[in-house]
Amino acid sequence: MTKKTVKTKLRPLVAGNWKMNGTGADMKQVRALVKTLSGNHRYACDTMICPPATLLSRLAALRTSLKASRKLALGGQDCHAAVSGAHTGDVSAEMLKEAGASAVIVGHSERRSDHGETDKQVKAKVEAAHRAGLTAIMCIGESLKQRKAGDTLKVVGKQLRGSLPDGCTASNTVIAYEPVWAIGSGLTPTVEQVAQVHLALRKALQRRFGEAGSTMRILYGGSVKPSNADELMAVPHVNGALVGGASLTARDFSGILAAYKA
Ligand code: PEP
Repeated sequence: MTKKTVKTKLRPLVAGNWKMNGTGADMKQVRALVKTLSGNHRYACDTMICPPATLLSRLAALRTSLKASRKLALGGQDCHAAVSGAHTGDVSAEMLKEAGASAVIVGHSERRSDHGETDKQVKAKVEAAHRAGLTAIMCIGESLKQRKAGDTLKVVGKQLRGSLPDGCTASNTVIAYEPVWAIGSGLTPTVEQVAQVHLALRKALQRRFGEAGSTMRILYGGSVKPSNADELMAVPHVNGALVGGASLTARDFSGILAAYKA
């Protein structure tokens, strides 16, 4: 069977979220990834790794030494809303930018659950990202209980409204739809379920941001792996993926990028 290449109007983004994984020893995965991106194949997508903050500047330096600054973007995993101040353990968007990030994930469900982050706080982080000149990758998604109750669209619609400030554009904001129950579980929604949510999000973005809402990328995240990437990335209004576990090795991550092989 010939492999179908995913075609979409918007240039997709495949971003890897390393979460609290990765030390200097894992930089070899980025080296290998860059080798893939620099090889004979062309990928019709943007590619990003969001490592722990401790690795950002080291990976930025590695990327420069490999002459791969245009091939691989780097992102943070969270930021504080303030520029600086008495916030022990936190990192500001400006600090991430200085370390080499061009984007930052905000409102990931692990931040919302582990740290009790609210839509209002996530919105302030999106504003911080914009202030620093970073693209905010803003995450939303329903729990299994909410899905079973038939509340998915209501839940993600509320998160979208509450977590995005005015002034979002296609270049400063990316949405990531990540059903909480699909993250790290090996479970994924059906393509019909993904299509339903992404269409609803697209319409909501268009209502709120007009033309910008049509060109803002909406990523799917939750147990994306090489074996399901083709199918998930082919769903209308899925403009790429936010990948957790499968982004930790160059081999798996490249297998996902293959959905966009040109
Ligand atoms: C994530 O945490 O953003 C994620 C999508 O994780 P995983 O791919 O491991 O489900």
